[in-house]
Amino acid sequence: MFYADGILRKSSLIDEIPGIFHGFSTRAGGKSVLPHTASLNLSHNLGDPAEVVRENLDIFARTVSDSAYGGDATVTLHQIHSAKVRVLTADNAGEGYSIPRGEDGDGFVTVQAGVIPIARAADCVPVLLAGLRADGRPVVSAVHAGWRGTVSGIAAEAVRVMLSLGCELPTIRAAIGPHIGYCCYEVGADFYETVCGLCGAEFAGRHITIPAGKVKHHANLTSMNVEILTNAGVTPEKIDVSSDCTMCMNDVYYSHRATAGKRGVHGAGIGIR
Ligand SMILES: [Zn+2]
Repeated sequence: MFYADGILRKSSLIDEIPGIFHGFSTRAGGKSVLPHTASLNLSHNLGDPAEVVRENLDIFARTVSDSAYGGDATVTLHQIHSAKVRVLTADNAGEGYSIPRGEDGDGFVTVQAGVIPIARAADCVPVLLAGLRADGRPVVSAVHAGWRGTVSGIAAEAVRVMLSLGCELPTIRAAIGPHIGYCCYEVGADFYETVCGLCGAEFAGRHITIPAGKVKHHANLTSMNVEILTNAGVTPEKIDVSSDCTMCMNDVYYSHRATAGKRGVHGAGIGIR
C-alpha cells in the first residue's frame, strides 16, 4: 500500500525490507520558484539555477534518509529511455549533484550504504525495488521506466542485476510510483505498432485498449510493469502500485503531458542505512 509521509509517498511493502529507506517525491517542499518547476524540481536542465537544484536534491536526500545523508550522496543518471541498469558503489555518490550530468542509463542497483540512487520522472514510471541477500544484507534499486524503458523490460533487468549481486528472489519487493495513468495516457497507432513489434500483439492487446467512454487507445504502463515484474519472478502480492495519476493530479506532481513539456521532475530515491 502507498501512503503519504510529509512531502514523500512511500510503499508499505518496501518498508518490510530492514535496513533501508525510500521515498517518492512530489512537487512540494523545495526551493524552485519558477512557475513550471515549483518547487522540488530535481533536474539541472529545466531552467532552475544549479544551486537551487542542488538545494532541492539536498532536501530530498535528507527527507528520504531521515537526515542520515545529504545531496552529496545522491546519484542521478542522464536518462535515455533505455533498459540500461548501472551498479553503483559509494564512490559514485554525488554524480548528478556535484557533477552536473550523470552517466547515460535508466536504472541503478546498489548493495552499498552512502549512495542514494534517484530515478527521475514526470509522467514516466518510477519503480523502486528492494530485497535481501542470504546474509540478510539489503540490495536496492531505482528505475525510470518511460514507455520505451517499460517495453524494453527495464524493471526485469533491474531484478536480474539484483539477483546477480546475490539478492534472493523471494525477498524482492517492488513499488510502482506515481505516473501517468491509463485514464490519461492516450496513444496513437504508431505506439501500438511499436509495442507489438517489441513485446508481441498479445502483450499490446492486453495493455493498450480503449477505455469505456473514450474513442482512442490508452496505454496502461501500470499493468505493463506489473506483468514484466511478475514474469521476472516478483509475485503480484510483492508489488505495490500507486493509484496516483500525475496528469490528473498535476497540482501534486509534475506532468509532462499536462504541461506540454514545461515542467520539473520528481524523484524516486532509495538507499541503505
Ligand atoms: Zn489521469
